[in-house]
Amino acid sequence: MSDTRPLVVVANRLPVSRGEDGWRASAGGLVTAMRPVMDEVGGAWVGWSDDADEVPRRVDGLGCDLHAVKLSRAQVRGYYHGFANRTLWPLFHDLIKQPVIDRRWWTSYLEANRAFADATLEVLEDTQTTPTLWVQDYHLLLLPQMLREAALQAPIGFFLHIPFPPPELIARLPWRDQLLSGMLGADSIGFHTARFRDNFIRSVQRVFNGVTSLGDTLVLPDGRQVHAVAHPISIDVDEFSQLATSQETEEELSALREQFAGRKVFLGVDRLDYTKGIRHRLQSIELLLERDPELRKEFAFVQVAVPSRDDVKEYRDLRTEVETEVGRINGRFTEPGHDVPVHYLYRGVSRAKLAAYYRLADVMCVTPLKDGMNLVAKEFVTVQAAGDEAGVLMLSEFCGTAIEFGDDVVPCNPFDVEGLSYLMGSALTLDEEDRRARIRRLAEVVRSADVYRWVDDELHAIEQGTDGP
Ligand code: UDP
Repeated sequence: MSDTRPLVVVANRLPVSRGEDGWRASAGGLVTAMRPVMDEVGGAWVGWSDDADEVPRRVDGLGCDLHAVKLSRAQVRGYYHGFANRTLWPLFHDLIKQPVIDRRWWTSYLEANRAFADATLEVLEDTQTTPTLWVQDYHLLLLPQMLREAALQAPIGFFLHIPFPPPELIARLPWRDQLLSGMLGADSIGFHTARFRDNFIRSVQRVFNGVTSLGDTLVLPDGRQVHAVAHPISIDVDEFSQLATSQETEEELSALREQFAGRKVFLGVDRLDYTKGIRHRLQSIELLLERDPELRKEFAFVQVAVPSRDDVKEYRDLRTEVETEVGRINGRFTEPGHDVPVHYLYRGVSRAKLAAYYRLADVMCVTPLKDGMNLVAKEFVTVQAAGDEAGVLMLSEFCGTAIEFGDDVVPCNPFDVEGLSYLMGSALTLDEEDRRARIRRLAEVVRSADVYRWVDDELHAIEQGTDGP
């Protein structure tokens, strides 16, 4: 890392949870990535917690102070369940669902961003050295500007973990000016891909007069410069490579190989979210089995569906639709005395089990309708390569990962349900050595840009942003 300033991360959630034996660091991509940096430079993490009054200042294994933001129930309903998850989420994912426009939610979003700003400023009062401030994601779009208005010396970075949509979609939001101005408060704004970054630059130029862009740099009417950069997030490659061949994973894998002996295994691993294309995928599987009666006896599709946002109506509806589809396929194609074709797990699974499923899969279906990045795809190729497996990755062209992965995947358009079903059939016919070589090349792509590189690139860009181009 180029700099030794302390780091203050501001994110919706604090990276801790309370278990039976007290508070501990949660397992998540961002936390894993930040851990070595925080150990090196120290700092703080500001985030909302349901138990704001009880969160300890420190937990084992996390080298930073924790500062909890307290929000009322009504604020959480409006800011998080409402504006973040029912207005911004669907709009930023290209309107897969209709975004809800509700002025009360907007007021809560403003209030919540203000509460995060106040908490961050309190942290700064206690900090001796000027830190780097790094704001995360769509929950906090207004925060960079709020922090800048406090006239801090600290460099401010922002990273958006979801797609940034084209200007025509952003233009539909009544609060587009405020949201874009909010982001422009940062010195450096990071996106997963150049396409999302370009959408942002075009949106800014559509909404505001007098903004010029010079490559990655936006020059605002007051002369201030903001860098808009593309840095794809990734995974801890060493961690997943070790997990792939750990004893626990090998044990899980032997049990699964026995369970699915003689069958081709297709796999899906997603949060149960309407952006992930799970329904389309199931419909393609139904068509595949309809067309090919021979395949029915030697086929299994495992869908791990991690429960998500089940207090939001659209997610509860999706669960009903997916479970109806699973029931229909199993009802149609299960032969008496034989196993069902679709194994549906509505739950999270252990790391070792996840790695075992990744190794087992003949065909991994990563077919989101829209996804900022998709880490499951990166984990799959890493684990497969470490286990010397030869699975096939079917990858939607509408996720950020597709841009990095190029031709070694089976690229697909998940909206074309029938086309997807044909591609699923043909994925089984690829030559084994070809498949193995593809997996190895894909794993190399991931290794060359892991999550630590992402953190480095981001922090470097934030630091540079304060010096001008
Ligand atoms: N995952 C998990 N538990 C599970 C299955 C998956 O924690 O039972 C993890 C998976 O390892 C991956 C993350 O959930 O790191 C999903 O990230 P992705 O970028 O694919 O999608 P997101 O959920 O962030 O939209």
